[in-house]
Order: sequence, then structure tokens, then C-alpha cells
Amino acid sequence: MHDHLVRVVSPDGLFRAAAAVTTQLVATIVEKQKTDFTATVALGRLLTGGALLGCLLKGKQRLALSVEGNGPLGKMSVEADAKGRVRGTVRNPIAGLPPAGDHFDVAGAVGKAGFLHVWKDLGLKEPYQSMVQLQSSEIAEDLAWYLTSSEQVPSSLGLGVELGRKGDIAIAGGFLVQSLPPGDPEKIDALTERIKVLPPTTSMLGDGLTPTEILAQIFGSEDFHVQQEMPLSFSCPCSREQIELMLIDLGRKELLLLIEEEPQPVEVVCEYCRTAYEFNHEQISELMKRAR
Ligand code: ZN
Repeated sequence: MHDHLVRVVSPDGLFRAAAAVTTQLVATIVEKQKTDFTATVALGRLLTGGALLGCLLKGKQRLALSVEGNGPLGKMSVEADAKGRVRGTVRNPIAGLPPAGDHFDVAGAVGKAGFLHVWKDLGLKEPYQSMVQLQSSEIAEDLAWYLTSSEQVPSSLGLGVELGRKGDIAIAGGFLVQSLPPGDPEKIDALTERIKVLPPTTSMLGDGLTPTEILAQIFGSEDFHVQQEMPLSFSCPCSREQIELMLIDLGRKELLLLIEEEPQPVEVVCEYCRTAYEFNHEQISELMKRAR
């Protein structure tokens, strides 16, 4: 099944939901990031969560999620847009935590104490920013807690990444369900009960269920309309121009240090896609003229 996301809404408008298969997307990104098994699962979950939250955006809006705990991974960052384009990176790709059976200690790799930061460019003057404390550090619950407490939209998420024997991505995917105002307590209870007994997303996808069929399991006898079906893909919008602005931001002093201490050409690597941008000393001197 190719990577895609399906977004639906109930006819009464009280629920909206999305489900996605993200296998290739996660595989492409973790290969670039050279993550070990546990880091792969952790980043795969956040990437899938990013794709699911991204589908609630419109037009040119973008969103960035970062999870920073006191565990060995340091900081994981994921960005997504309304068109299903996703990128992600992790500061320390080696969690160094051996899996116990088929369980990966994501919470241990992230660290129990820390924060989830959410940043959204909604096309307004100032970007939207929010931050919540990590709840379980297993990612899905943390994102659900952010949506429920900070955005005030009661939400439930399931995120799954299943690895093959060699650490390759066998299946990845997830779902997001949200209760919209005014809310129907009875229907919410019924839905919550169905989610509780739902098999893991990866087993459902492994059994050949499509995202729409997973949503049908969640909605039970409730009706829903498919609003959107879109492909998901890895995409990094980095450019030489953007890297130049980042260098200018470093300031004159730092740039002078680069010229004095670094051999030519100075290489700046995009942390997301690993593209290397080269600058010779002359080009850096030119950038210095535009720096503080
Ligand atoms: Zn890039």
C-alpha cells in the first residue's frame, strides 16, 4: 500500500478523524538520519503524528513539532504541511537501548521529563507557538494531550511503527480522532470504548486494512464522509538561500571565525535531508557584509 492519508468527518460534524499509512515516508527519513532501532520507532511515531496533525492545516500553512526530553535522543523535530509533505530529524540518532523482545523503549529513549513544542505558521503575522509537558514520552499520548489541553479539542491518537528483522520499516501508520464542539458525551464514550479494544494500527495495516477501513472500525456503526485523500511524502524545502540566511544570522564574529579556522570550502549540511551546501571564503565574506 502506498503512503497516504484519509481525512473524514461525521455527518453531524461532531467528530473528525484521519488515518494514514506512512511506511515509505518513515523508511526514507530514518535512512537519512541513520537511527538505531529504538530511535527509528520513536522518530517514526513523531513523523506519523506530524503527518496526521498536518492534514488539519490549509493552503500554505506549516507545522513543526519537537519533542525534547532528558533521554539519549536529545531532540526530535518534525515538520509537515497541508499537502502531506513531511521531514524530520533527531539530534542523537543512537538511543543505545536494546529492544526487549519486540518492545522498543521509546519513553526511555525520549526521556520521561521534557516538553513537546508545537509551532504553526498559519499565514498570520506571528506564528502560533505552544508547549506542553511530556505525559508518557511514548509520543501518541503526548500529542493527544497537547491537542486536548492546549488546543482544547479532545483527541485520541494511535501511532505505530513495526520493524523487520534487520531494523527496516515493515509497517508504519496511525490515526487521529477528535471530538468537536459541542460534543456528544454518549458518542464520545462509545468511540473511546471502540478505540480501547482496537488492535494496534500496525496489525490492522498488516492485515491489509486501508486507512479508510481503519476509520470504519473506529466509527463503528456511525457514518462518516471522506473529505480528503492525499499522498504522503518526504520533502525538504531547504535551499541555498535559506542556508545563507542562517549563516548571516550567526553574525559577523562567527562568520569571521569560519574563514579563519575552517578549510575551504566550508560545508553546511541540512540536518533534515543531509544535502551539503558549500561556501568558499569569498562567499562567506560576502555574507558578512549582510550580517550584524
Ligand atoms: Zn534539507
